[in-house]
Amino acid sequence: DYMIEFAKVNKWYGNHFHVLRDIDLQVRKGERIVICGPSGSGKSTLIRCINRLEAHQQGKLTVDGLELSDDVKVLHEVRRKVGMVFQQFNLFPHLTVLENLTLAPIQVNKLSKAEAEERAMTQLRRVQIAEQAHKYPLQLSGGQQQRVAIARTLCLTPQVLLFDEPTSALDPEMIKEVLDVMTELAEQGITMLCVTHEMGFAKSVADRVIFMDAGQIVEENNPHDFFNRP
Ligand code: ADP
Ligand code: ADP
Repeated sequence: DYMIEFAKVNKWYGNHFHVLRDIDLQVRKGERIVICGPSGSGKSTLIRCINRLEAHQQGKLTVDGLELSDDVKVLHEVRRKVGMVFQQFNLFPHLTVLENLTLAPIQVNKLSKAEAEERAMTQLRRVQIAEQAHKYPLQLSGGQQQRVAIARTLCLTPQVLLFDEPTSALDPEMIKEVLDVMTELAEQGITMLCVTHEMGFAKSVADRVIFMDAGQIVEENNPHDFFNRP
C-alpha cells in the first residue's frame, strides 16, 4: 500500500539537462525518508515532482493511487494531500501569524473564519508557538518563522509532508527547534520526505536514507547501515 510511487521517472530541464534519471522509489504510508546528496544532484526536483511544482516527462508517478498528469482535477487532489515546507519560509509579511494560517483554509477550503482560526491555533500549539499568533512574521526569529510555516502547511491537513532543506536558512541555534518539531511530526505517523543535510536528524528519524548523485538514486539504506558502514 504505497503513498508515493515513482516508476522509471525521468525529467529534463530544457532539452538536454537530464535532471532525474530512471527514478524508482516506493514510499509506504507513514514512512519517513531523508534524501541527501551533493548540491545539484536533483533532490529538490525529485520532491517538487511529487506535488507537481515540477512536471516529469517520462515514467509514472502516483500519489495515493492518483497518477500525476496535466489533469487539473488530479492536480488539485494531489495538492490537497501533499504539503510542502521550503528553505525560505514564504510567509506574508503584512499578515499576522494567525492570518497567514487562516488565509488558504478560508479562501481555498471555504472554512468559516472561526473554524479556520480554531484549526490554526491547534496547529500553532502543536509547533509550540501559539503565544505568537498575533505577531507579524518579521517580529519572530527564523526558527519561529519556520515553525509557523510548518503549522501553516499542517492547517491544510496533508497526508504527506515534503521538506526542502527546511533548516538551511537558519542560524545554528535555531536549527534544533525546527528539527524537534519535525521529529515530533514524524513520531505522529505522517508520511515525510525530507531533503536535508542534518545527518543527526536522518539517523534518529528516518526509516530510509536515500542518496542521490547526478539525477540518480545511487544508494538506499536504513540509517543504521548507512551511518555504520566500514
Ligand atoms: P539539489 O536539490 O540536489 O541541489 P536541484 O533539484 O535543485 O538539486 O537541481 C538539480 C540541477 O538542476 C541543478 O544543476 C540545477 O541548477 C538545475 N535546475 C534546477 N532547477 C532548474 C530549472 N528550473 N531550470 C533549469 N535547471 C534547473
Ligand atoms: P535549491 O535550494 O532548491 O537547490 P537553487 O538555488 O538550485 O535552489 O534554485 C533556486 C531556484 O532557481 C529554483 O526555483 C530552481 O528551479 C531555479 N534554478 C536553479 N538552477 C537553475 C538553472 N540552471 N536555470 C534556471 N533555473 C534554475
